[in-house]
Amino acid sequence: MSVLKLRIYPDPVLKQKARKITIIDGSVRKLAQDMLDTMYKSDGVGLAAPQVGVSKRIMVIDVSSEEEPAKPIVFINPEILEKDGEMIGQEGCLSFPDVFFEVKRASKVVVRFQNLKGQTLKLTAEGNLLSRAIQHEIDHLDGKLFIEKATNELKRDLEMTKAGLLDGDAEEISKKLGDDEGLTLTVPSKEAVTS
Ligand SMILES: [Zn+2]
Repeated sequence: MSVLKLRIYPDPVLKQKARKITIIDGSVRKLAQDMLDTMYKSDGVGLAAPQVGVSKRIMVIDVSSEEEPAKPIVFINPEILEKDGEMIGQEGCLSFPDVFFEVKRASKVVVRFQNLKGQTLKLTAEGNLLSRAIQHEIDHLDGKLFIEKATNELKRDLEMTKAGLLDGDAEEISKKLGDDEGLTLTVPSKEAVTS
């Protein structure tokens, strides 16, 4: 078991488009296991390789709850084949500690990927955490971050400022948002995806 060092925003690796994996060998299997160890250690539901400094198209997701047995899925070279509908929900990201805000995603995705045996699989997720996590992680492989997709940029900036990831005056942003809204922001929803 190896827990890898998480890359925190604004690490430049997070903005790079990751390279396709052409050979699934022992080093890829070890990377997948280390990524899972890192994700579980950080209480995340998903992790993409750029978040541990590896610019390759591999990501791991496990949306099972704490009471359930682990259900890890390793996605190699994932591609979204279909997207449909929309949903809005709280998201977090292991590369943005303590930052949560609402992000709009497609409700349904159909994704094609390879597993660690090199088999090509297809998976459909709709209206749930898995669908949201798949979209969040594939964005990471393309160098895209959830801060680009906030439904409310002021709320995002407030969260980023409070977490020390953005220079700014949290009080000022809070005022702009309105006092009531500003106060509710410190409590992330239990449903929040951190990935
Ligand atoms: Zn993330």
